[in-house]
Amino acid sequence: MVDLKSQYEKIKPAIDKGIQEVIDTCAFINGPYVNNFQKDLESYLGCKHVIPCANGTDALQVTMMALNLQPGDEVITTSFTFIATAEVIALLGLTPVLVDVLPDTFNIDPVAVEKAITPKTKAIVPVHLFGQCADMEALNEIAKKHNLHIIEDACQAIGADYIFKDGSKKKAGTIGIVGCTSFFPSKNLGCYGDGGAIFTNDDELAKQIRVVVNHGMVVRYYHDYVGVNSRLDSIQAAVLGVKLQHLDEYCEARNYAASYYNKAFAYNSKLITPATANNTTHVFHQYTLVTKNIDRAALIAHLTQKEIPAMIYYPVPMHMQKAYLDPRYTEGDFPVTEALCASVFSLPMHTELDDEQLKYITDCVLEFVNNN
Ligand SMILES: *Cc1c(COP(=O)(O)O)cnc(C)c1O
Repeated sequence: MVDLKSQYEKIKPAIDKGIQEVIDTCAFINGPYVNNFQKDLESYLGCKHVIPCANGTDALQVTMMALNLQPGDEVITTSFTFIATAEVIALLGLTPVLVDVLPDTFNIDPVAVEKAITPKTKAIVPVHLFGQCADMEALNEIAKKHNLHIIEDACQAIGADYIFKDGSKKKAGTIGIVGCTSFFPSKNLGCYGDGGAIFTNDDELAKQIRVVVNHGMVVRYYHDYVGVNSRLDSIQAAVLGVKLQHLDEYCEARNYAASYYNKAFAYNSKLITPATANNTTHVFHQYTLVTKNIDRAALIAHLTQKEIPAMIYYPVPMHMQKAYLDPRYTEGDFPVTEALCASVFSLPMHTELDDEQLKYITDCVLEFVNNN
């Protein structure tokens, strides 16, 4: 699904130099590489505070802790996402309230969000799924009206732009009060291990997040809060510092592959190509098609046999996951999510796809689709 090896070969001297410098200076934790990467990312995002942490899941958890969400508080999120989003809500004893997504963009439905609000609702967690932003202007309005926090899960959308009605733009993760991202190797800005970060323009919140990631410590060895230990290590920061310089170029490469796929599958009655909403750019963390009237499992088996990886993101809706079964929800409650889980599949999507590979992949997909 990704080709991190070829990507590395192109930036090897800079990456190797960065990693070697960290080892030579033994500044493994914090130190200049983490600081520099933080500053570089702040300026790339146009965001006042970037707080690095250990991974994207921690970023979400730490954010909810720093916002002082308490057991019993309700947090609205999408039924169609990676588990981490709901996991941290449950882990903190908060109550996840799920809502359905829009069938074209796969992103959280703002109308459903507003309907799900109760007096206990404290926050909304939109996920910018597969690389395009959720309808943030609508969500921001709802949040303002009901006095709720918006925590953007931007783990799949770093580098995407949200385009406001007045034409102004903001980077994914900097539109709500706070945004979270992951630097997992296969993410759009991936390191060579685990990593994550939290973005905010709110000075007070940034301060509190820095306290939570560092054991709830305000003054050295004085712990005013229950915190966690969540750090980005310097070797990962060195890798990210190099790769951030290529992020826009990586987004372009992903868009090139996506438009190749789009062209090849356009007007095919059995495949629905992914739609990009007009208020966002798309950075194609995943390229995800909806199948119609074909046997998805047989298609994936056909591709596997041709040595083309194809994955289902995600096969099980959040409310049908074993650990998250909840008497409040039952099969049929989120029909769009359930239909997507039954019909989507994703093709290889990364920065190194060339025309030859794209032709082979699209030919193999069409070979099956047109004969079944
Ligand atoms: C990857 C991902 C996460 C978690 O990030 P990790 O760094 O793996 O902890 C959370 N939410 C979404 C939507 C993701 O894609």
